[in-house]
Amino acid sequence: MNNLNAKIQIEKIFREHNVKICLNPWNQKCNRISKAHSIQNNKILSKISDNGKVLTFDLREHLLNNNYKLSEKGRKVATTFTGLCNTHDSKLFSPIENYNFREYDLEHNFLYAYRALLKEFHAKISTYEIYKYLVSEFPELSNLYKSYINGTKKAINEMSKFKREFDNFYLTNKFDEIITFYLNLDSEYLIACSTTFYLVNDLRNSLLNDIYNPNSKLRPFFLSIFPQNDKTNILISYFKKDKELFSRFFKDFNNLSLKKKKEKISLLLSMYCENFIINPSYWETQFSFDEKKKIIDIFCNSLSNIENYNIKNNIKINFFK
Ligand SMILES: [Zn+2]
Repeated sequence: MNNLNAKIQIEKIFREHNVKICLNPWNQKCNRISKAHSIQNNKILSKISDNGKVLTFDLREHLLNNNYKLSEKGRKVATTFTGLCNTHDSKLFSPIENYNFREYDLEHNFLYAYRALLKEFHAKISTYEIYKYLVSEFPELSNLYKSYINGTKKAINEMSKFKREFDNFYLTNKFDEIITFYLNLDSEYLIACSTTFYLVNDLRNSLLNDIYNPNSKLRPFFLSIFPQNDKTNILISYFKKDKELFSRFFKDFNNLSLKKKKEKISLLLSMYCENFIINPSYWETQFSFDEKKKIIDIFCNSLSNIENYNIKNNIKINFFK
């Protein structure tokens, strides 16, 4: 199969198995699922795009070429997902779509985390469908995909639990059940992300999430980054019940210099964030070839094994220049 054919095939598989579902907390049935926003509103997207285009990590490119690069995408293609219908997307996220972020607003902080969870949950459900399809079409792959399928199944189970908790908090106005660590940088950097992940180690290399142990409990971070009001907002949210576990990590993080903080957040982004966009001119002009290569290597190698990198390591990459 030549590259173009393979690309068309892969696109087709992803498109056909992209799950359309409305993950609204009211459990209402919805007929028409449209594309929900995962990253910010049009104002922020316009800022980050050049002529409607943004750059992003692209798993499909990676599957196909192995030599990884950032892909150019239409800004809406890169940042929307079919995990909510139009009505419920607007109803749920209106406070953060239509108003600027307020640091001390618990509901705002909660909604950013909620959206990061729904986006990731939807991505996992779709990935599961793709693996199932691949194994049914190509039984010879079943051994190879068995562990992926089991891993994805486990991720979906975990995330369903998180979603039930979020739904419940949302419906009962318990926004303070989600705690947000907030960092603002005093300039608008042209990048954005929204993701859910499990930080493996803290800055002293103590274990936070034992991701390879099927019996261990996972404790997620919900990360949102976006430029607004002459600042770049960085939100790392987590469940209140996990506060103690993460307290030393945030204490250590607070003690770092601004330069180191930027490097650590950049490392988290490269290790854990597929749902990420960056302005094309910013990427082309502000990053050296070596730095681009380093970032892309981290992203690719983390996909296959997150333990290739560690947040405590001194890795000098910086998305905030
Ligand atoms: Zn709906």
